[in-house]
Amino acid sequence: MKRCVLFCLAVLLVVSLLACGKTPPETKGKLKIVATVFPLYDFARNLCGDCGEVSLLLKSGASAHSYEPTPQDLIAISQSDLFLYVGGESDEPIEAMLVSAEREASRSLRLIDAITPIAEADEPEESDEHIWTSPACAKRIVTAIAESLCAQSPENADTILQNRDTYLAALAELDAGYRAFAAKGHTLVFADRFPFAYLARDYELDCLAAVSGCGEDGEPSASRLSELIRTVREKRIPTVFYTETSDQRIANSVSAECGCKTALLHSCHNLTRTEQNEGSDYLSLMRRNLETLNAAFD
Ligand SMILES: [Zn+2]
Repeated sequence: MKRCVLFCLAVLLVVSLLACGKTPPETKGKLKIVATVFPLYDFARNLCGDCGEVSLLLKSGASAHSYEPTPQDLIAISQSDLFLYVGGESDEPIEAMLVSAEREASRSLRLIDAITPIAEADEPEESDEHIWTSPACAKRIVTAIAESLCAQSPENADTILQNRDTYLAALAELDAGYRAFAAKGHTLVFADRFPFAYLARDYELDCLAAVSGCGEDGEPSASRLSELIRTVREKRIPTVFYTETSDQRIANSVSAECGCKTALLHSCHNLTRTEQNEGSDYLSLMRRNLETLNAAFD
């Protein structure tokens, strides 16, 4: 209830700011773009280059699933030229704010509309939010963002389209790499949560996960865990995977039980401060994932 009251106050603040004439700045010079999760932020900054200032609402290392917008975040969104968000369950409070503030539809981009969504295994009425984990989806997302950026800033369209083509070429290379891996027909066992539903669908990967979704409190059932251990033994699977948000507890226990290795696949929701300082980005993390997948079955 407290969260709800704070949120309503924040919405009122934004709506009143807009009403007192502090309307979003005209597009002069740099485009202002705000994104909810790291991959959308990373795509936008690659597309804009010097013609845009892109900011990410998630702080370094923060969980995308427990994120709650602050009043400052709502103001940043209201003052942006383009707001990028996925449009899943986690974004419902922000979508409510966009409606309350009567934000122009053309200045917000809901990227789940750019791809064919997958229903969540546990809550079929909700769509899986991890749309960026498939390079095939990333190509559509990047194309959609580029189109909206050009509409907001026609004077920078040539640069944006050139940057789009460069980025799409890098994604095409990733896409080919994942297709080549998928052709080997390995079964991937995630002894962890499973944010890779789009990757599994688009590359026809055979995946088995301890927990279907990506919630914070996901615990595997005893039957799922024993199915997972049986699969690892029967198929002599050499490596099971965990994600960067995990405590590796399930992966370690499957490893101890079956004598298999464990390896990290990064789901790219967000970066830690260290990853940021190392210069990691969507492409480098997805390339490393591909190397990890190939090495896991050598
Ligand atoms: Zn997630």
